[in-house]
Amino acid sequence: MMQDVFLVGIGASPGIAIGSAYVVDRRRMSAVERSLDPQEVEGEVRLFETALQVSRQQLEDVKNRVADPHIAEHLHIIDTHLLILKDPMLVDETIAVIRREKINAEGALMRTLRGFRSVFDAIDDEYLKERRSDVDVVGDRILRNLVGVSQQSLAEIERKSVIVAHDLSPADTLQMDKSRIIGFVTDLGGRTSHTAILARSLGIPAVVGLESVTSQIREDLPVIIDGTTGTVVLNPSLDTFREYLEKKQFYEYQAEELTYFRGLDAVTLDGHKIILRGNIEIAEEVPIALREGAQGVGLFRTEFLYMKRKCVPSEEEQVAAYREIIESMVPHPVTIRTLDVGGDKLVSDIDLSDEANPAMGLRAIRFSLKEKNLFKIQLRAILRASAFGKARILFPMITGVAEIKSCKKLLEEIKGELAAEGRDFDAGIEIGIMIETPAAALVTELLAREVDFLSVGTNDLIQYCLAVDRGNEHVAYLYEPLHPAVLRALRMICKAAKQVGIMVGICGEMAADPFYTLVLLGLGFDEWSMNAPYISQVKRIIRQVYRPEAEELVEELFVLGSAPEASRRLSEEMGKRFPSLFGQPARSGRE
Ligand code: PEP
Ligand code: MG
Repeated sequence: MMQDVFLVGIGASPGIAIGSAYVVDRRRMSAVERSLDPQEVEGEVRLFETALQVSRQQLEDVKNRVADPHIAEHLHIIDTHLLILKDPMLVDETIAVIRREKINAEGALMRTLRGFRSVFDAIDDEYLKERRSDVDVVGDRILRNLVGVSQQSLAEIERKSVIVAHDLSPADTLQMDKSRIIGFVTDLGGRTSHTAILARSLGIPAVVGLESVTSQIREDLPVIIDGTTGTVVLNPSLDTFREYLEKKQFYEYQAEELTYFRGLDAVTLDGHKIILRGNIEIAEEVPIALREGAQGVGLFRTEFLYMKRKCVPSEEEQVAAYREIIESMVPHPVTIRTLDVGGDKLVSDIDLSDEANPAMGLRAIRFSLKEKNLFKIQLRAILRASAFGKARILFPMITGVAEIKSCKKLLEEIKGELAAEGRDFDAGIEIGIMIETPAAALVTELLAREVDFLSVGTNDLIQYCLAVDRGNEHVAYLYEPLHPAVLRALRMICKAAKQVGIMVGICGEMAADPFYTLVLLGLGFDEWSMNAPYISQVKRIIRQVYRPEAEELVEELFVLGSAPEASRRLSEEMGKRFPSLFGQPARSGRE
């Protein structure tokens, strides 16, 4: 095989693993349907019941083997599978098919599973789709036990390996022993799949969504995975091997060192405190945020609840989702951003009629204010969930005061309704807005008077300020966080917020990149929200500087006329102060 075959997928869990491939075949079992003589029927029913019993025992064993407290909270996935094993739609129906059709247990089970699939397929709802895949996984386990083909158990792998699979179930991931399974790669999967989240909780590097890695690899082939960037190298050359070995050592050294910061405050040497919170998309990310010492959730992107489903989530479903997160974050706040669809975020079932320019079209708050019924359901759900801890509401893509007034009016109406219904909610719930358009930056002062807090979405603010599509690789070189226009916008926002006397936060990716930590500190952001695994490294930098030094640095950058100049000056400063992080060679892509 060729050397240095680079593949790029989705970095699902950070870290670097270097080892040899262990290919796991998780293709679905199939079995042959066979007619039975009448006297065989009850024996077949008993075989089926025994297979259920064995399957139950196997899942109990998986549960009992999990010792790591970080993943114990994920065991509910196994409980779900145990419940499916008892589900009459599966169990009674299969037994009824064996008796009625006089066919073997494997054949009957496959018929029942096919029935399940067609029902689920017709519904086309993301939540139920997940349940469908759970039923498939459980069905496969029963089938294997019936035909006596045991599933390779990841718990039994004896040598250090990088697992390569088409897909892995959460039960597979729960069985991974870190001392032997050093990483995994899969053809399928996304960053927010259960398997990816479990990998992050376990600290096992993983790259998913590689599409065809299983067809390009063979057993024992050397492989490198970089779960931070989503890169996989098959059959690395000696040079590549050395390069990644060095990266791995550096990553591990840093990760080890950073755990020390989890319980500490983000406070500068002169005693100025910054609040660091987590960005999340699903409830399973909450334990990771808590472990990393996040002081609440600064941005809960609720789009995930609405994605890839036919009908929008009901009020009850949303209350349950918000409540779970709010309760687990007590006493810290959970900042729930209302639906931010449109632009690059598509929710398949919501009909966003074809727009010539979606980034400037019916996005985010504009969509919500048009589709008031949907918006109302979400606001009712957030308010109802606010009774269970501390919630805050965040409105996305605001461009003017009128939008805030409309949101507030609706919110007041809903509060009235809920009070009349006798429901509990936090009447004083804080409301905030995202500052992510140049218009909002220019009139921050007017907007700030209307709300309790601001949160700057630099991902969008930079794209709209510089007229650079954040997802278009042809203009990616123009996407410059240190562009003088961006720096000026950020400074205006912070100054206006201070003038009015409200908190100003930042929740775009810029907040997570330690290269910009001094700049954001100098600009005066009070609350930073980011993907939780980045919190410690940002905190470490904050704890090693005096705030006035950061302010002086920002003044210096302001005098420079272009992003490359500002970037060079910042590289020099960061390299000098934090040589282990930013020492030469200069970080690529910034100059
Ligand atoms: C942003 O625009 O910076 C932001 C945090 O929102 P999103 O990335 O979800 O658009
Ligand atoms: Mg945004």
